[in-house]
Amino acid sequence: MSTYTLPETQEEQAGSPVKYVYFFADGKAEGNGTMKNELGGKGAGLAEMTNAGLPVPPGFTIQTEACREYMRSGGKVSPEVNRQTEDGLQHLEQLQRQKLGSGENPLLVSVRSGAKFSMPGMMDTILNLGLNDQSVEALARRSRNPRFAYDSYRRLIQMFGNVVLEIPKSAFDEVFDAKKKHKKTKLDTDLDAKALKEIIGEYKKVVKKHTKRDFPQDPHEQLIMARDAVFRSWQNERAKHYRRINNIDDMLGTAVNVQAMVFGNLGETSGTGVGFTRNPAIGTKEFYGEFLMNAQGEDVVAGIRTPVPILELQKVMPEVYKQLREITTRLEKHYRDMQDFEFTIQDGKLYMLQTRNGKRTGLAAVRVAIQMVEEGLITKEEAIFRIDPSQVVDFLVARLDEKDVRPEDLLTAKGLPASPGAVVGQIVFTADDAVEMVGHGTEKNPVILVRGETTPEDIHGMEVAIGILTSRGGMTSHAAVVTRGMGKCCVAGAGEISVDERANEMRAQGQVFKKGDWITLDGTTGRVLRGKRKLLPPDPENLAKLDKFMSWAEPFRKIGVRANADIPRDAIQARAFGAEGIGLCRTEHMFFAQDRIPLMRAMILADNEKDRRAALKKLLPEQRRDFVGLFEAMDGLPVTIRLLDPPLHEFLPKREKLMVDLGALPYADAKRKKALVSEYSEYGAKGSGDLKKLLSDLLHRVEDLHEFNPMLGHRGCRLGITYPEITEMQARAIFEAAVDAEKKGVKTHVEVMIPLVATVKEMENQGAIVRRVADEVFKEKGKTVHYLVGTMIELPRAALVADEIAKEAEFFSFGTNDLTQTTFGFSRDDINKFLPIYLDEGILKQDPFQVIDRDGVGELVRIGIERGRKTRPHLKVGICGEHGGDPSSVEFCHAVGMDYVACSPFRVLTARLAAAQAGASDKLKTEGGRTK
Ligand code: PEP
Ligand code: MG
Repeated sequence: MSTYTLPETQEEQAGSPVKYVYFFADGKAEGNGTMKNELGGKGAGLAEMTNAGLPVPPGFTIQTEACREYMRSGGKVSPEVNRQTEDGLQHLEQLQRQKLGSGENPLLVSVRSGAKFSMPGMMDTILNLGLNDQSVEALARRSRNPRFAYDSYRRLIQMFGNVVLEIPKSAFDEVFDAKKKHKKTKLDTDLDAKALKEIIGEYKKVVKKHTKRDFPQDPHEQLIMARDAVFRSWQNERAKHYRRINNIDDMLGTAVNVQAMVFGNLGETSGTGVGFTRNPAIGTKEFYGEFLMNAQGEDVVAGIRTPVPILELQKVMPEVYKQLREITTRLEKHYRDMQDFEFTIQDGKLYMLQTRNGKRTGLAAVRVAIQMVEEGLITKEEAIFRIDPSQVVDFLVARLDEKDVRPEDLLTAKGLPASPGAVVGQIVFTADDAVEMVGHGTEKNPVILVRGETTPEDIHGMEVAIGILTSRGGMTSHAAVVTRGMGKCCVAGAGEISVDERANEMRAQGQVFKKGDWITLDGTTGRVLRGKRKLLPPDPENLAKLDKFMSWAEPFRKIGVRANADIPRDAIQARAFGAEGIGLCRTEHMFFAQDRIPLMRAMILADNEKDRRAALKKLLPEQRRDFVGLFEAMDGLPVTIRLLDPPLHEFLPKREKLMVDLGALPYADAKRKKALVSEYSEYGAKGSGDLKKLLSDLLHRVEDLHEFNPMLGHRGCRLGITYPEITEMQARAIFEAAVDAEKKGVKTHVEVMIPLVATVKEMENQGAIVRRVADEVFKEKGKTVHYLVGTMIELPRAALVADEIAKEAEFFSFGTNDLTQTTFGFSRDDINKFLPIYLDEGILKQDPFQVIDRDGVGELVRIGIERGRKTRPHLKVGICGEHGGDPSSVEFCHAVGMDYVACSPFRVLTARLAAAQAGASDKLKTEGGRTK
C-alpha cells in the first residue's frame, strides 16, 4: 500500500478565487473523471457520467479544498465557499424550474460525502433536504402521494437530526417503534400518511428537546448545516479509523455532492439498487448486485430490508434492466475496470447515482485482471497494478475440509458467500467484545463477530475479528463490502440464523449459541457450521491463476525476495512461495525446542567457561542438524544465519516467579513440591530435597543476569564478545553442517551474520572468530565451502559508521525492527500503550514497526547503504525486519537500491508483487493503478 500525498493548498491566485463548486447537468459537467483529488471519487464519477451523456440527476460538487479549509480554520469556510454554494444552488433551481423549500414546486436535494478514496459508509449523507412544513405539503399535492411526502420529511428530520444535530438515532427509533406498536403494524411501509404526520410532529419535539431549537425550516440554512456536517464527518472516529487501516492521508478531506433528488420510493414502478459489473468476491464475469422496489438507497445498503438479486429486475422492468446493462457495460469499457454502481428508478425512468472502480477481494482482483487482459481491455503491464500486494494473502486462505462437514453441524447453507476463506473462531456479538476477547498479546484469540448487520461503528471489531457473520443484508451490505476490502472471511445475510445482540445470543437450527461458543464460517460458499471444523490449505486452481498473474509481474522485479525462516518446514514453504533464499535464520529459536532448552539453560547457568563449553558441546550436534536441514531445503540458494542475539535471561524463569516459589517453599505441601520438582526438572531438580538450593541458585543467576533495559543490554554481538565460546560453537555447527551438506551434493551459500553491531571493532572481533573456526573445520574435514561474514545494521551508529563497518563486513542486512526501536527510542514490546493515541492524534501516521518511517529510519538506511558501498561498491544489502513484507516498505527498499528484502514465508508472495510493481512503475513511469 502506498502512502498518499497531501495535495497542495490551493492558494488564491491574484484576482481569481479558487473554484470551489463544479456543476454537472444535462450532458455537460465542469469537472471530469480525472479530478478525484478535487471532486472525490463520487464527484469525479458523476461528472464523467454526465459528460458521457448518461442519465444523471443534475447537481454540483463542492470540492475537497473547502473541507480542508473547514478543518484548517477550526470549523469555518470562507465567504467565497458560501457564495459559490448559493450560486450552485440557484443554478440548479433554475435548471429544474424548482425552488428549495418552495410551497409551490419544491426542489429536494441529497447531500453526500465523497472522498478521493472510497470509504464505504464511513461518512455521512442526508437525503430529501429542502423539505419543511410548507414544501412537504406541496410535494404531497404534486406527487399525489401524501404518504410518500410525509415519509420523505420524517426521513429528513431523522437523518438531519442524527447527522447534523448529533441527536442519538435511538431517540428517533423510540418514537417510530412506539408508533408501529400503537398502530399494530410490523413493516415501516404499513404506516399510513396520518401516522407519518404524527411521527413528524413527535420528531420535531425530539429535535427541540435535544437542541433547544426548532427543526430548521429555512432550506438554505439546512443546506449549509448539512454541508458542514459532511465536512465534519471526515473527522469522525470511524472515518479516522478506516483511513488508518487503509493508509489514507488524514488531510485529503472530502468533497460534498449536492444533487437533485430522484425517488425510488414513489411506488411500485420506482426502486433503487447497487451492483458490480463482475463478481467482487470471486471475480467471475457476471452482472452482479441487488435492488429493492419502492425503496430509498439507504434501505438497500443498511440491510433493513433484504434486497432481491439484480437479475430479477429483468422480469420486473425488462427495459430498465436492458438500459442498465448497456450503461454499466459502457462504464466498464470507459474506465477499463470493474465498476461498482448505484442507480435509482423513478416512475420507470433510470438514473445513475454513482460509478466507481469496485472494491474486490484479492481472488477477484487477479481473476478480473486476467479476464480484462484476455478481453483486450487492459495490457499485462496495467494488470499487474490491479491488485494490492497485501491482498495476495487471499490466495493463501484456508478452505473447509468437506470430509468434516456433517449435516447435523450445518447451521445454514444459505448464507451469502460475501468474502472467501474459511475460519474457526469464538462468537462475539459486539465490536467492543471482539477487541476484548481477541486480547492484546502476540497470540490472538480467534473471534468471529456475529451481528444482525454491521454498521460503520463496528469497524474496530471487524478489524480484529478473523471472520464476520451477519443474519441480514446482501452482497453489497456494509459487512460484505468492508470485509472484501480487508480480505477477511465473511458470510452475510444468513437469514436462518437469528441474532439477538441485546441478549448476546444467536439461534440456529433450534440451538442457542452464546458468546465464546465455537463456530466455523465458510465465506467461499456461505455456510456456517457448529463447532471447530477441519480446514484445508488453499485451492490449487486459484493458485494457478495467481501463478499466471505473477508471471506477468515478475519480469519487472529488480530486487530479490528471501524469507525469514528458522526451520526446514518453513524454509520449504517459503521456497514454494518463491523465496530466493533465507534472509534471516534466528538461531535462538532453535534453542527453544523441548529437547534443546535444558541444554541451553545448562549453558547459561554455568558460571565458568569450562562448564559453559561442556554444555555448548552438547548443543553443537543439535545445531548442526538444524543447519543441514536448512541447507538442504535451500539447496542452491543463500542462507543467512544470525548468531545468538537475545539476552540470556529470556531462556530462564522470571525473577518474580522464582522469588514467589522460593518464598512459598516452606509452606508447600507434598503435592505442591512434586509439581515444583517436575517444573524445575529441566534445571536439574530430582527430588523435593534439592528444591531450596536449586531455587536459590537459580534466583542468584537470574539476578546476575537481570538488566533494567535488556533490549539495550547484554545481547547481540555483546554476548559473543563476552562469551566467545558461544560464537565458536555456532560457527563450528554452521561450517560442519555446510561441509556435510556439500558432501551430500547440496549446494550451499553460507552467510554468517553478526547481530547488533555498533562499531567496526565488534565486527572485527566476531568476524575473526568465525573465520578462524571456518579454517579449523575446513582443515579437519578436508573440504572448503564458500561463505560470507556480514552484519545486521540495527543501531543508528552502525548506519552512520557503515563505511568503517563495511571494511570488515561482507554484507549488510538492515534489522529495521531494532533500528526503528533505537531510532525512535520506542520499545518495540511496549509501544502499544501509547501508539493508538499517537495514531488518533495524527502524531504518527502509521505504526513505524509495520511501515518503514522513511524520514527517520529510512534516512538511516539510505545513509548506511551509501556509506557501506563507498567502502565496498558491491556490498550486498538486504532487510530482514518485519518491514520486508510490507508493500510500501518494499517499494522503499527498491528505491534505495537494496539487493533483496526478507520476510516471513506467508508474505513472500506479497513482497514479490510489491517489488515487481515498484520495478514496473520505474520502468513504465506510471504511478500504478491500484484500485483503492
Ligand atoms: C530486527 O531487529 O529487525 C531483526 C530482524 O531482528 P530481531 O527482530 O530478531 O531483533
Ligand atoms: Mg534485531
